[in-house]
Amino acid sequence: MKVRAAAIWAILAVAAAPAHARDMLVSDQAQFGAAVKKAQPGDRIILADGEWRDFQMVFTGTGTAAAPITLTAQTKGKVLLTGRSNLRIGGRHLLVSGLIFKNGASPTGEVISFRRDSKTLASDTRVTEVVIDGFSKADRRAEDIWVALYGTGNRVDHSHFEGKTNSGVTLAVIRRTGDPLDNRHRIDHIYFGPRPPLGSNGGETVRIGTSEESLSASNTVIERNIFDRTSGEVEIVSVKSGGNIIRENLVLEAQGAFVLRHGNGNLVERNIFLGKGVADTGGVRVINRDQIVRDNYFEGLAGTSFKSALSVMNGVPNSVINRYHQVANARIEGNSIIDSARITLAAGADAERSAAPVDSRFERNLIVGAQGQDPFRAEGETGGIAFAGNVEAKVAKPLLGAGVEQREVVLERAANGLLYPTDPALAAIGAPRDLKPVTREEVGASWYRGDAPEAAFGAGSTLPVPAGASLARAVAGAKAGDTLALATGTYDIAAPLVVRHRLTIAAATDAKPVLRVASGLAQIAGGGGLRLENLAVDAAAAPGNGALVMVAGSVAPNYSVTFDRVSVRGPGKGRLDGIVMAPGTFADDVTIADSDFAEMGTVVVATGEQEPQGWYPMERLTIAGSRFARVAMVADLLRKGSDESTFGPWFSMTGSSVADSGTGGASLRISGAQHADIAQNSFAASDGILVIHSVGAPETRIASNAFAATPAPRIEELAWKGAPRGQLVGNVVEARP
Ligand code: CA
Repeated sequence: MKVRAAAIWAILAVAAAPAHARDMLVSDQAQFGAAVKKAQPGDRIILADGEWRDFQMVFTGTGTAAAPITLTAQTKGKVLLTGRSNLRIGGRHLLVSGLIFKNGASPTGEVISFRRDSKTLASDTRVTEVVIDGFSKADRRAEDIWVALYGTGNRVDHSHFEGKTNSGVTLAVIRRTGDPLDNRHRIDHIYFGPRPPLGSNGGETVRIGTSEESLSASNTVIERNIFDRTSGEVEIVSVKSGGNIIRENLVLEAQGAFVLRHGNGNLVERNIFLGKGVADTGGVRVINRDQIVRDNYFEGLAGTSFKSALSVMNGVPNSVINRYHQVANARIEGNSIIDSARITLAAGADAERSAAPVDSRFERNLIVGAQGQDPFRAEGETGGIAFAGNVEAKVAKPLLGAGVEQREVVLERAANGLLYPTDPALAAIGAPRDLKPVTREEVGASWYRGDAPEAAFGAGSTLPVPAGASLARAVAGAKAGDTLALATGTYDIAAPLVVRHRLTIAAATDAKPVLRVASGLAQIAGGGGLRLENLAVDAAAAPGNGALVMVAGSVAPNYSVTFDRVSVRGPGKGRLDGIVMAPGTFADDVTIADSDFAEMGTVVVATGEQEPQGWYPMERLTIAGSRFARVAMVADLLRKGSDESTFGPWFSMTGSSVADSGTGGASLRISGAQHADIAQNSFAASDGILVIHSVGAPETRIASNAFAATPAPRIEELAWKGAPRGQLVGNVVEARP
């Protein structure tokens, strides 16, 4: 019978195949439109090799399962969609492959859309071997989705998505009321390449649905993908629907977690998370009913609270659809949590999130905390979680007793690269032995490995610039990564130098160059970044307003500024700010090291984002070993709002001195930072430090500072109802005389 059935199927398949499948090579947009109109099942529309600029493709048609209509490249990887380009797909049994989107951005809200319009969705359609690389809108606040899946039965696979710096999910399953919701999409073998922190909510790499329709099942499968440093925000994968399977993915040094945010009955199994100790790397966060998290492997995850290796949240009683439903019937079984900082139970418990997990099981997990510490924390009641058969490497004062056995655990790396206990008695505890990490070769488009990352500071040539020469001309002629080496003498800068790539301006060995600035020193333009080393800036004659380093709007990708051994003298206290960023821009880091600033306004002005949704202007601001005298403020950093989706900003100031400085009651104001470390600084005859907490679980440490004729540091809480949080230790405050 079996043979007979197969034979009949073969005949049907042949009958369904078209007699005259055609290849239609097209070389302009009009030819493409005509080819789409006449395409029949089995036909292939082939884009000629080369650049297709400003091409908003609409690909519609009806193929068959045996004979889809194909849109592809003459040579895979040689067809580039650039400028204002995108692709909309509507119909059935369509296949797209071989395209690259780069050097531009979609003019609409999506790059690849599985619908032509709201009525014409795509189904049973596949996008494979497609690349979207750095195709980000220049203003990071301008939102889009790179791949938007509508309809049912669609697949995205073996593709490469990297370098999204603007707001919006990289790949989303859209589930609008009225559209089919039993999606059954498949998302597999994709290389999700690095996505830097967005500095706001909206930087998810994958999202399935939204809260409105989250109580229905999407039945989407996400499997055998690599998530490589996909650190846009706290949700790497945001599940907002039910019945999904997330299986056998490999997550590398990615900040955030897979979050079962809304919807019930999802399965997360056999995934591998490797954090390598990178801050804020997490695993899986459990919310809602009937979630299964089993046979996963977590190693080297440094994240805490919502970014723990595992967190099980508290819910809101009778929660509205978009808050937090109570965890019920969760099964967390057979996972290995190794060398990881935290497992948080009843996470986020507070006056609103008061419903603890119920009817849940935590069994046969292997737990080895980082640095011999107990990773378990309970932020609320844990009686609704039954612990059984777990093994934890011995710690001094374990939080959990029954169901978590304390014992010596010796680990050994197996052939699959993962750690397992050597003791055969533990064979049934923790992640299974047959996990097979997905390899780089298995995912992405085989013909695409991306460009070399933009040349880093100091990676290019060193170009000597004699004293008195035009620095503007030297900057214009430099390439990414180059260093301009200046001689002893004065360089007059009549107008700000426009910096369009990573550029270092430094003193040549033993030289003492002085940059004499008439208005501003530099302007960071799109793609730019500036590192100043070992030189003096004389801005005493600059006008009182403006900035030494101005960041232009729309500078994507993220920029970076460093002052290292730089001495700056401005026109007077309160006049001429230092580094000033525009709204819509984002710095990976701003660093001031071993530098001097005197007679000026605020040295780092990071208050450009005034929207209340939690946008902030830079991931890290680091000040070390520097001296500030008669400045308005050392730094003014602002992150507004109550959103809990970001990692930063991070602030650190150490080993520095501040004298005769401050304005409006503060010489340093840090508002909304998630991490602030202010240690071993001295403040004299200045206004004080003000740290303002707005959201989340900010970590603030103000330690071992000296305050002479300067008020004591203050911490204010905008949302938290208790006493101000933070560590204030070893500070010495002398009152003003
Ligand atoms: Ca989010």
